[in-house]
Parts: sequence; C-alpha cells; structure tokens
Amino acid sequence: MAHIRRRDLLLAGLALPAMAGVIDGGTAGSDTSAKPKRFEDTVGFEVADLMSRSGLAILPLGSLEFHGPHNPLGSDSIIISGIAERVAARTSGLLFPTISFTQCPAHTAQFRGTLSLRPEVMTVYFADVLRNIAHLGFRKILILNGHDGNVGPGRGAIAQVADENKDAALLFVSWWEFLPSEMMKTLRMFHQANGGHGHGGPLETSAVAAFRPELVHLDQAGDLPEPPDLSGGPPYFLQKSTAAGWPGYSGKISEASAEKGRKIVQISEDGIVKLVENWLQHDEVPGSW
Ligand SMILES: [Zn+2]
Repeated sequence: MAHIRRRDLLLAGLALPAMAGVIDGGTAGSDTSAKPKRFEDTVGFEVADLMSRSGLAILPLGSLEFHGPHNPLGSDSIIISGIAERVAARTSGLLFPTISFTQCPAHTAQFRGTLSLRPEVMTVYFADVLRNIAHLGFRKILILNGHDGNVGPGRGAIAQVADENKDAALLFVSWWEFLPSEMMKTLRMFHQANGGHGHGGPLETSAVAAFRPELVHLDQAGDLPEPPDLSGGPPYFLQKSTAAGWPGYSGKISEASAEKGRKIVQISEDGIVKLVENWLQHDEVPGSW
C-alpha cells in the first residue's frame, strides 16, 4: 500500500496550480501561458524576420537514457524541453527542436533503452547544427543542456563554431547547475548530503514529474542509501565503465514529487533567464567573463 500512497501523492501534484510561486524569494512565477516561437513553426521566409527581431536562438540538448525503473527514457529531454519553452517565451528567443539522440556514459549505456552515439560523432553533429543556426544569421546562441553526456561534445562543438564565426557568441548552460547542493540543502526538500542530485535521483525525478507526472512511477524504485561524498561539495567528473551492481539510479526516490519539481524547475528557469538577460545586456563588454 505504501507505494500506492506515494504514487497518489505524486499525481496529487497535478491538482495544484501550475508553477506555484518560488520559495525563498524568487520571482513570483513566470507567465506559463506565454508561448515560445518555434523554429519548426516558422513559415517560408519568416525566419529572417524573426532573426532580425530577436537575434537569439535557443537549442535544447537532451538524451534517450535509462533513468531507473521509475522514469521515462526521455527524462532529460522532457525536462530541458519544458525549461527551454519557458526561457524562450520570456527572452523572445527562437526555440529550436530538442536534440535527443546524444551520447550516454558507459554506465548507463549498458541499460536496455539507452541510445548512445559516440562522443566524437556528437561533437561533429552538434557543430553542424550550430553552424546551420549561425548561417541563418543568429549571432547569439543559447544551448540549454539537460544531460551530463552533452557537456564535453557540446563545448567542443561550440569551440569550433565560435572559431569560424568571429562575431558570434554561444552560451552553454546545464539546468541542474542552477541548483547547487548547498542551496538545495537550504530548501529541505531532499535529505541526502548531495541535495537530491544524482542520476535518476529525487531531484531529477521531481523535475520530470513537474512536466509529465503520468510518466513517473515511484512505486517501481526503492530508496537507495546515501552515495559517498568524495569532495564535500566541489564538483568533479568521475566516469565508471561498468554498471555492475548499480540499479541505474540513485538516492531517496520516495522524496520525489511533482510539487517539488515545479519549484525546482522554476528556480532553474529564473536563474537561466537572469543569466541570459545579463548576457545580452552586457554583450558589448569585451572578454568572456
Ligand atoms: Zn538525466
């Protein structure tokens, strides 16, 4: 019965008003009714007009990856597409389709359902997509990332395209980096030392539930013990080549909920919008600060 109650609790979040106000002094919640302009919806020669009016292109990067028995394979794409829609609506950027076929690390690639391309292929592929966007005339390109495996290839592609387009600026951000562990601890949503972070963990699961609660099945995954705290806070990159003995997710899953997810996603969205507005405002300042 316990798992049924957890599932009921998760779905109960559906009844709450979309985007409850942000906790701890954030903005009062964005206007979720505002719709972004989508690249695939532009008609004929309209793209030139849109480009000259906004000049900002937004490209979301996701994945198709096993996220535990309780989450959809498109978890990263669902989260970043949802955040990108709101960021595009609030910044008047032109929203490009989410790239979902990407590269996944060895430890998740071993799970059935993960689709993974080689990192060198992704670098070349991302670069070609960015080249095409730059060729349309966009000189400000925001890459919104929803998947850790995109960081390396994404930055490699950006380096190439920036070198070829001397008047272009490309900004790369990962949504979860606006939710550092120390800040998450102050919100008291998740009670493990990493603030709920971790692959398929309660933070990410909540964010998926914020957009697609019907795809999250908390009753399919048990709580896992606290992962070891290797650095005490500072970020690091550790890649294991095997998934033996790992269930494909992490953390105290019972702490996930759609309501928490909506708050988390709002904080990330507000942080990204603030960053983009500051970026565009200070565009003339030399340097890459
Ligand atoms: Zn993920």
